[in-house]
Amino acid sequence: MKEPVSDIDPAANLAAIRDELNKALEEASRPIDTVTINAVSKGHDGARIRPALEAGHRIYGENRVQEAMAKWPGLREEFADVELRLIGPLQTNKAKEAVAFFDVIETVDRPKIAKALAKEMDAQDRRPPVLIQINTGEEPQKGGVIPREAPAFIKACTGDYHLPVAGLMCIPPIDDAVAPHFALLRKMADAHDLKVCSMGMSGDYIAAAKLGATIVRIGSGVFGPRPAN
Ligand SMILES: *Cc1c(COP(=O)(O)O)cnc(C)c1O
Repeated sequence: MKEPVSDIDPAANLAAIRDELNKALEEASRPIDTVTINAVSKGHDGARIRPALEAGHRIYGENRVQEAMAKWPGLREEFADVELRLIGPLQTNKAKEAVAFFDVIETVDRPKIAKALAKEMDAQDRRPPVLIQINTGEEPQKGGVIPREAPAFIKACTGDYHLPVAGLMCIPPIDDAVAPHFALLRKMADAHDLKVCSMGMSGDYIAAAKLGATIVRIGSGVFGPRPAN
């Protein structure tokens, strides 16, 4: 995963995104600095990530347990207060590593994975907060619990599995207008007294901020295009 030298400046990109987010928050009459940036570093090597770390950014997203475990231990030794968020689909056979390695798990979406995470959290006595992924577009190929099944699943996660549920996450369908999806996620989070809404990516984080995101997941907007692999 060695990347070609380029003129991409992740630190400058983060600063510009921060400004745009605050402008959007003002326009939506939300308090400024209430949206966190998850810099999605999947697909990029340490050399590309480092300038963001050196500029003080501490919150990063990865979509594969294996890739994150190969890439981050060294960087974490240097930058101890990094927060790593798992934003990709999780299989039960990776639950152990996910609980040990990640600080937040954003993609809890079915009883089997909820149960596996609960078991690992007990075994490791480590309880990283989790988000429930909602499949707001009800796309069959996509992860996430569908909206009408979400209330029962959220209740099971907190009540039966005692997972530290902090909020909800969604990835709207590629070809849809995003606003109804973001508005629905915020509404569902509020209905369950959940604060965190992880929504919005490089192409739509402004809309997400206006509609109540508390954290946006931005990859290419920070680090440039991902190298093909
Ligand atoms: C890759 C990814 C992102 C970032 O996508 P960009 O369009 O590069 O900002 C955000 N969320 C999830 C779940 C992803 O897998």
